[in-house]
Formats: sequence, C-alpha cells, structure tokens
Amino acid sequence: MSLVTEATADNVGNAPQLRSQVKRQVLTILGSTGSIGTSTLDVVARHPDLFSVFALTGAKKVELMFEQCVRFKPTYALMVEDAAASRLENLIKATDLNTQVLRGSKGLDDLAAHPSVDTVMAAIVGAAGLSSCLAAARSGKRLLLANKEALVVGGELFLSQVRTGGAKLLPIDSEHSAIFQSLPEDPTTWNSQIQKIILTASGGPFRNRDPNSLHSVTPLEACRHPNWVMGQKITVDSATMMNKCLEVIEAHYLFGLAPSKIEVVIHPQSIIHSMVEYKDTSVVAQLGTPDMRVPIAFGLGWPNRIESGAKALTLQSTPPMTFEDFDSLEHRARFPGLLLAWQVLGARPGMTGVLNAANEVAVHAFLAGKIGFTQIHEVNLRTLDQYEPLVPHSLEDLLELDARARATAEQVIRALD
Ligand code: NAD
Ligand code: MG
Repeated sequence: MSLVTEATADNVGNAPQLRSQVKRQVLTILGSTGSIGTSTLDVVARHPDLFSVFALTGAKKVELMFEQCVRFKPTYALMVEDAAASRLENLIKATDLNTQVLRGSKGLDDLAAHPSVDTVMAAIVGAAGLSSCLAAARSGKRLLLANKEALVVGGELFLSQVRTGGAKLLPIDSEHSAIFQSLPEDPTTWNSQIQKIILTASGGPFRNRDPNSLHSVTPLEACRHPNWVMGQKITVDSATMMNKCLEVIEAHYLFGLAPSKIEVVIHPQSIIHSMVEYKDTSVVAQLGTPDMRVPIAFGLGWPNRIESGAKALTLQSTPPMTFEDFDSLEHRARFPGLLLAWQVLGARPGMTGVLNAANEVAVHAFLAGKIGFTQIHEVNLRTLDQYEPLVPHSLEDLLELDARARATAEQVIRALD
C-alpha cells in the first residue's frame, strides 16, 4: 500500500511543548500561484514554526509569484515561461532577496526531488505535473497530491515509484482526504473491511439544467461553480462531472479498491466530503465547510491536526443536507462523462491516460470557444475509440502516450467542424 499509515507515538497531538520540538518541514510547492497553491501558502503562513518554503513554482503569474517570494523567501522560484522568469528576475534583483529564479519545466523535477526538501505539494494542473510527481515519489518525499491528473495518467507506475522510493502519499483532493480520514489506519485491512466508498459530488452548476439545453452552455456559465472557488480546468471538469470521473480513477489507485466498490452520490451542499461504508453497514464520513484549506492542513500536519483558517461548520445553520442518486436517467444524460471512469478502469492500462489527455485538450478547446460544452464528451469518447495505447512501463512511455492521445484528440476536434 502506498498511503501512509504509521502514526508516530512521539508526534501525536499539537501541544505547544511538542510543537517546539518538531523539526520544521521544508516544502516545495509546485503550482504555488494556483488556487491550491495559494491556499497552501495561506495555511503555511499560519504555522511559521512548522514549515519553511524551499521552492515555489508557477507558469505565468509573475506579480503573484513575486509577492509570494517577498513573503516566504524561498531559495528557488521557478517560472515555466521564459518571459515570466525574466520579469521575475528583474523584480527580485531590485530587492535584497536571495531567491534564485529558474526557468522552464525541466527544473520542476529537481525542485521536487531536492535533498533539502521533506514535503512536496503537487498542485500543478494536468499531466504537466506528472514528471515532478514521479520525481518526488522516487526520492521518497512526503507527497501531498492535489494534481489528480498525474495519478490518473501515472496509474500503477506512479504507485510503484511511491513504493520503491519510500515516499508517503497523502491525498489533498477533498473527497480522498475525507476517505483517508474515515479509513482505519492499517491499509492491509481496507479490502476486507470495506463494503464500498462513496464519493460525494456537488453536481456543479448544471445539476438541474435540462440536458437538452447543455449544448449552448458558455465557458462563463461553466466556470461558475456553486460551492467551490477553483482553477478554470477543474471548474469546467466539475460542470461536466469529468472531475468526479477522474476522482473515481484517483480513488481506485489511492485506496487499492476495485472500481465496483466505488460509488458516487450527488450531495449539492458539499458538507459531507465523502464516506466509507463498512461490512457491518456502518458509514463513516468527514464533514466540513467547503474550503480546501481543510484537506491541505490535514495533509501538511498529518498525523497531527493543525489550524487551517477555515470557518467551522455550524450544523444548526447549515442548509438541510440532501442526496441524489447519480444513476438516474436524467443525471446520466446530463453527465455522461462520469461513467467513463469505470469503462477505462476495466480496459487496458494506459486508457486512463488517454481519457485524461483527451479531456485536457477538449476542455482547453471549449474554453477557447472552439467546441461546445457537450462536445467535450464527444471528443473524449471518440479519442478513446480511436486510440489503443501500449501498456506504459516508464515515464517516457506515459509521456508518449499522453502526446499521442492529445494529437488524436486534436484531430477529432478538427473533424467536428
Ligand atoms: P490552477 O489553474 O488554479 O493552478 C495551477 C497551477 O499550475 C498554477 O500555479 C500554474 O501556474 C501551474 N501550471 C499551469 N500549467 C503548468 C505547466 N504546464 N507546467 C507547470 N506549471 C503549470 O489549478 P488548481 O485549481 O489550483 O488545481 C491544481 C490541481 O489540484 C489540479 O490537478 C486540480 O484538479 C487539483 N485540485 C484542485 C482543487 C481546487 O479546489 N482548486 C481541489 C481538488 C483538486
Ligand atoms: Mg475533489
């Protein structure tokens, strides 16, 4: 099993006398300028005695990265885009900061695997984060995984690198954090004790929309999530429910459970973040306000609990919690993409990566106004139909598979015109 379990007796609790003895965790935050990245830094800033920042990485947002450098004084700041790195370098030169600016995606792996680093927050969006996740896994880091696409693409290879590298994999996705918090400590007991896991889904902005009108959805409408503030790609994925599809695949790999033991229920209020049903029919759930700082603080602090900054849940004043069967005809028509999770998990290894690549290309094309909302699913389906991957055995195989599936998806999009 890849998920961590060994709670250490001398490190339990959050009493001040213990905190002062705990070694500060040194962090690399991949994707620090994104939604998860900024929430992570918000939690980190509340605990200067527990964490220090070694490296921050981003793609384009120079001003935000500069502010983060001033505040957290990392040793390295990497910008993927060359022009952005040059601008950051100029801004930093005008200060007395010692932060060294790196450029291009090549340095991401080194910052994830650097010997000075204890913990890596993987918060890059998409398969672009795969290589750095594997680098952190191989070098035995504590790996806080927000970047679900990396696990969806990496699959068994990702897990084997976690095992051989001796890394500790902690889920940051709120549903998977909820399940992890609801599971027994010993992973070897999971398969025999668990009846199923139940992932909750808000249903996004189109839960009640007439499925026949979804073709006219605009990017602006799709980017308005009712409960969560997130990056653009995951927000569109939530509107199609492809996010839940990726999360079913993520849950399968993280918890080593058969796809038939993973269920999805629609829970529009996003208060219960997911549940585990045991053999005796007991259901254990994790609840909280919808704020990603909670699972982030859980991952950063594990096995301790640390303050997250989130608003506490007041059950008396929360709206009544409701649940809807995903498996109704209406929801199946609204969200056809979700079912692809079980299909690709039942197909040959590599198909999860093909689906992810197609979806990344399709979401990008939708946001650019090149295809309609319901065509995202069409692109995903047609790409899966047209592309049979070889079983991937290495990072190179995975990257090649990703590139080919993207090319196929682009062709499919051109053929839609
Ligand atoms: P975001 O778009 O807000 O941020 C993405 C980050 O990745 C940014 O720092 C960006 O600069 C960087 N980035 C983008 N393209 C890159 C590339 N090619 N190479 C290197 N860096 C690149 O996204 P987000 O919402 O923070 O999501 C990050 C990941 O966390 C995604 O995989 C998402 O599914 C997952 N996640 C997010 C949330 C959430 O609430 N936002 C919740 C659960 C899981
Ligand atoms: Mg989630």
